[in-house]
Amino acid sequence: MANSKFVLDKTTTIGRIGWINEWGRDSSALDRATPSYMIYTRAGHIPHMTWDTVGSKLTLKQKVELFQITLPSHYESVEVIKEFGKGLKAFCGIPGDKIVHLSILDPIGTCYTGYNDTKSEAIWTKSGRRSIIPEHLREIVESMKVNSFSTLLDYDTPTDTKNKRLTKAVNRTSDWLDDLFRMEQDETPSALSAVVAIGGGFSAFHRERSARELGTNLFAMGFSIDLAPFSLNEKNQLRVPYSETEIRALLGDSLSYLPEGKLRLCEGSFTPAQIMFLISLGFDMFDSSYATMLAEEGKALRLASDFPANLQFATLDFTDKTFEEDFTPLFEDCQCYTCKNYTKGYLRHLHNTDELLGPMLLTIHNLTEFDEMFSRIREYLTSNVKQS
Ligand SMILES: [Zn+2]
Repeated sequence: MANSKFVLDKTTTIGRIGWINEWGRDSSALDRATPSYMIYTRAGHIPHMTWDTVGSKLTLKQKVELFQITLPSHYESVEVIKEFGKGLKAFCGIPGDKIVHLSILDPIGTCYTGYNDTKSEAIWTKSGRRSIIPEHLREIVESMKVNSFSTLLDYDTPTDTKNKRLTKAVNRTSDWLDDLFRMEQDETPSALSAVVAIGGGFSAFHRERSARELGTNLFAMGFSIDLAPFSLNEKNQLRVPYSETEIRALLGDSLSYLPEGKLRLCEGSFTPAQIMFLISLGFDMFDSSYATMLAEEGKALRLASDFPANLQFATLDFTDKTFEEDFTPLFEDCQCYTCKNYTKGYLRHLHNTDELLGPMLLTIHNLTEFDEMFSRIREYLTSNVKQS
């Protein structure tokens, strides 16, 4: 029923290997091997880049075609987009052949505890807090004409949450999904492009319950499993230290309640080593907010030459004066526009003078490296299957 042609090729102890042929609404053609990622955007563009520069300066191994947009950065223009009538892509000047997925929260944006209620999930826009009810989300998805979207989640279950509140959160997430599709007797585009949110907070029991209840949802084109508190986003008040042991224990067997052949999405900002670990637990899709976050901190990402056999990675920090008189290219062996044309000394200078070009050049390199990372991970998974 659901509109995503995801083909799970193999499951290994270090991850799932798959392929996506179609994506969401209108079954947009896509040709993408997994594990993979969506490119993070804000206000309708990759932060610090225009679509023109994306077209001329960004060359990735996987086609530059799948993007994550977030509700907080578009919520205030929903009415205008509705009136405009041609959808969000046309409104923002996003090239028509691109595919956009709508996430409810910004993976590197604000999130506070204490504001979800029985009827709605809270998000934070530039103008403050907004409450999203299922019916409204339906309207937003319809007016924006996004290719897919994540469904509502009661994420507000910090570490000390009592069982009663956890049960309420799982029930709310299920109820909101029912409300979203209450009118669906037919297969409307919005129903067919839903990536169903799975919650449960810091309780393995509730995570399993949420997965068991929602895993059977016929409309789901995939599932978004909430690990946002473990991500690097310091603007999330629910944030806790990342812990592999804790994540493994929390997820437990819950993913086994989701159909094998459906995509598993993890929205959030995670390091290369963390992503590799999450892939080993069975996740297929991520977002590139980590690459953007580093660029905004003035940092360039570098994987170990034998990543992911070696999970090390480094970040060069251009807020550091050390690079002032370093006239070598950013990275000799990287083929990206930034590394081919600019020196470390110049990147330091751009940072120091607060030039807009600085974060743009770092974004180009970081996305290239982030993309390279997934390419190497896919090769690594494939070669490990052959050996076993
Ligand atoms: Zn580069």
